[in-house]
Amino acid sequence: MKVITRQMRANEAAAKWQMVWERSLMTPMQQWGKKLLALGPNPDPDKVDEIIGNGNWTANTCHVCRRNVELTIEFDVNHNIRYRVCTACIVRARRMLADFGKKAPEAIPQENQK
Ligand SMILES: [Zn+2]
Repeated sequence: MKVITRQMRANEAAAKWQMVWERSLMTPMQQWGKKLLALGPNPDPDKVDEIIGNGNWTANTCHVCRRNVELTIEFDVNHNIRYRVCTACIVRARRMLADFGKKAPEAIPQENQK
């Protein structure tokens, strides 16, 4: 698990763009990659969006509620599969677990009652 911000997404955009489009013969894609690299290691996320033409590469989207938020926690589920979850969804999940525990403690498996 690690915390993710929109800035962190922007910082990774150039490298990810290069990975996706490095073998592309589509010249504009390569030129955009060079423009992204020219922004440096800590680019303004809005500038990244401007070059790419949308906010998809910097959006910090919660995979549960689909909202774009400033902070998420990223879960590495199976090495290459990552899910980001926002604070509101984590709080909601924690509340659901607590409420479930209050209503039906006998239904909670022993290993989860510690
Ligand atoms: Zn959420």
